[in-house]
Amino acid sequence: MSSQTAQQAQQRNGGREAAVLDAVPKQLLIGGQWIDAEGGATLEVLDPSTGRVLCEVADGSPADGVAALDAAVAAQADFAKTSPRERADILTRAFELLHERIDDLALLMTLEMGKPIAEAKGEITYAAEFFRHFASEATRISGGYQTAPAGGARFLIARQPVGPCLLITPWNFPMAMGTRKLGPAIAAGCTSVIKPAHQTPLSMLALGQILIEAGLPEGVVNIVTAERSGAVMEPLIRSGKARKLSFTGSTKVGKILLEQCADKVLRTSMELGGNAPFIVFEDADLEEAVAGALAAKMRNMGEACTAANRIYVHESIAEEFGRRLGEEMGGMPVGRGTEEGVRVGPLIDQAAQDKVTELVTDAVGLGATVVTGGSAQEGEGYFFTPTVLTGVSPQARMGTEEIFGPVAAITPFSTEEEVVAAANDTPFGLVSYVFTNDLRRALRVSEALESGMVGLNQGVVSNPAAPFGGVKESGLGREGGDTGIDEFLETKYIGIALA
Ligand code: NAP
Repeated sequence: MSSQTAQQAQQRNGGREAAVLDAVPKQLLIGGQWIDAEGGATLEVLDPSTGRVLCEVADGSPADGVAALDAAVAAQADFAKTSPRERADILTRAFELLHERIDDLALLMTLEMGKPIAEAKGEITYAAEFFRHFASEATRISGGYQTAPAGGARFLIARQPVGPCLLITPWNFPMAMGTRKLGPAIAAGCTSVIKPAHQTPLSMLALGQILIEAGLPEGVVNIVTAERSGAVMEPLIRSGKARKLSFTGSTKVGKILLEQCADKVLRTSMELGGNAPFIVFEDADLEEAVAGALAAKMRNMGEACTAANRIYVHESIAEEFGRRLGEEMGGMPVGRGTEEGVRVGPLIDQAAQDKVTELVTDAVGLGATVVTGGSAQEGEGYFFTPTVLTGVSPQARMGTEEIFGPVAAITPFSTEEEVVAAANDTPFGLVSYVFTNDLRRALRVSEALESGMVGLNQGVVSNPAAPFGGVKESGLGREGGDTGIDEFLETKYIGIALA
């Protein structure tokens, strides 16, 4: 899409975009009040389709972070006493408001993050679903009553909120990664300080407004937007006032935070990076496998921890698979996410565009063939043409690093044993995808793959009712599902003497 067309689109949408941006709070949410950052500091929010400034929001300081945590600590005892039904009702009202405002929220997300409007609406729906799911879970928190094996004493097992939590979210799913943490935290009776990524603070600020309107008591959720995330969050982690850190982001940052958490033995949930293998066996339904690869690769422009990073296709069908995937990806319209028909928006920033370019250049240098695409787009914004590479060497950097862009890297394989070994040859283990119509192979390979999740003949695994999370360096703990709330609950055993 030419930059002239993109500019025309901005003018067309101008009035509505400005109105949606104006309506979002731009301050920090602390103790139920919207307040300026210390000294009135602000940070710029950029439109990744142009690189231009959309608006400014408060740039929280370390002192602002402390004030936010103090507010969460002050609100904790009363919030823990609220009834499960009360907490469920707040989440249900927030769920409804997310749906009522989906058009504006989707536009806001597209503006700050770049994904096409249809995908942004999909994310709002997905995000809201965490609130609906955990509204039900709030009313199902249960304990136990047991007779001691030797008789006499009784055990009462109670579940209690962990306490004030620190929540840190990434830019790629600015709303859903927030509700995936806030849903269970609120359901469990925990207060929190949440820090969104500096690139995409607006969706979280809009969510804060919704939570207030849904009746959340003051101080239960505090939002700190900040450019200097390390300087703001480290003192809070080390303060001893918070009891848990739940983080979604890169493995590199996750490791730093785990070290910091060790100081006060904070409970941690870590949703970290991935390097998903996508395996297509010779007996797979080829059309289904291509559709699955398209979903697993192109959701969110490839900027997803669950993105198919290494696509292994049996050598007997690799060429045909590459040709068909190339046709599909080559035909996807690229442009500003606000425009009708666009299916691929810009990458998040210049660094992302440069990294994807480097990875493609490296793979091509090691012998990969470009079926379609292959380069960044000229002009404003951080667009990258959807790219399919075949014959990607296992030595290519994209075999070990997250591509985080619209690049499908296909490597042929010959045996099941060989491909399972290659798939597991990574420190990451978030998700794997397997396409086969052989039931025994499907189960054998699913069990052998070292990942927290497996997509079997499907290219998307995310579902609020399922336990999401990774093994190895992809993380600790699970979000969603019927165990997601456990991350925010402590188990207390009360021994009771009867005699
Ligand atoms: P990132 O650089 O690790 O940042 C994630 C969040 O951590 C941001 O809010 C960031 O704030 C903050 N942060 C960075 N350094 C920090 C520090 N020293 N102390 C405290 N907070 C810090 O990751 P990203 O680039 O935003 O996100 C992409 C990564 O997230 C990928 O690796 C992807 O696989 C992973 N991810 C995982 C999942 C999952 O569920 N497993 C889901 C989505 C994404 P700033 O904006 O200020 O840097």
